[in-house]
Amino acid sequence: QDRNAGAISSVRRVRNPIDLAIAVMQSSPHVMLSGSGAEAFAEEQGITLVEPAYFHTNFRWEQLERARQRETAGTHPDQNFFSTVGAVALDQAGNLAAGTSTGGMTNKRFGRVGDSPIIGAGTFADNASCAVSATGHGEYFIRWVVAYDVCARVTAGASLEQAAEAVVNGVLVEAGGSGGIIAMDPAGNIAMPFNTPGMYRASIDVDGKVTVAIYGDE
Ligand code: ASP
Repeated sequence: QDRNAGAISSVRRVRNPIDLAIAVMQSSPHVMLSGSGAEAFAEEQGITLVEPAYFHTNFRWEQLERARQRETAGTHPDQNFFSTVGAVALDQAGNLAAGTSTGGMTNKRFGRVGDSPIIGAGTFADNASCAVSATGHGEYFIRWVVAYDVCARVTAGASLEQAAEAVVNGVLVEAGGSGGIIAMDPAGNIAMPFNTPGMYRASIDVDGKVTVAIYGDE
């Protein structure tokens, strides 16, 4: 409704990062807090903190090991391990919202911040145009301001579907940035384009129709 936004980055102990992002939005004068400052704010706000070991899974650990081995061998990753979780929604009053949570790209450098917490890159919502949450190679999503670009195209007159396709399968493909987005407009239209073989995705519309899909031809 008013472009209010909250974001956090570089935290190690926040169990539900979007809870803290909402607290930054609602209970601080800022848009983004990072690292130890974000965790200190989480403590003040009564947000649940856990030990980093809480986030350990063997599946992700083994992915990291394989990525490290490929790096040592000098071979490029043959597969992209995107693991972002995003949501976009429209309420009965016509308010659009977007949220994105991620562990970042596998084998990223210590201190690296991706697109997910950067408003306009990996996450954006404005009742006047659309809501977008992105997953993919964050550096490209930052440089091409992907989430905002989709919504700006809607403002300029494109349909949500056209705008989302033009950015994900046009601009990003030309740039070499792999990934996808989920997007919704004020009419409740849904677009979920991606330029990778698959993207885990699901939607529910106003009539309760549910879709769940992984690959491109589904
Ligand atoms: N977009 C995320 C990042 O660059 C990665 C992902 O989508 O899994 O950090």
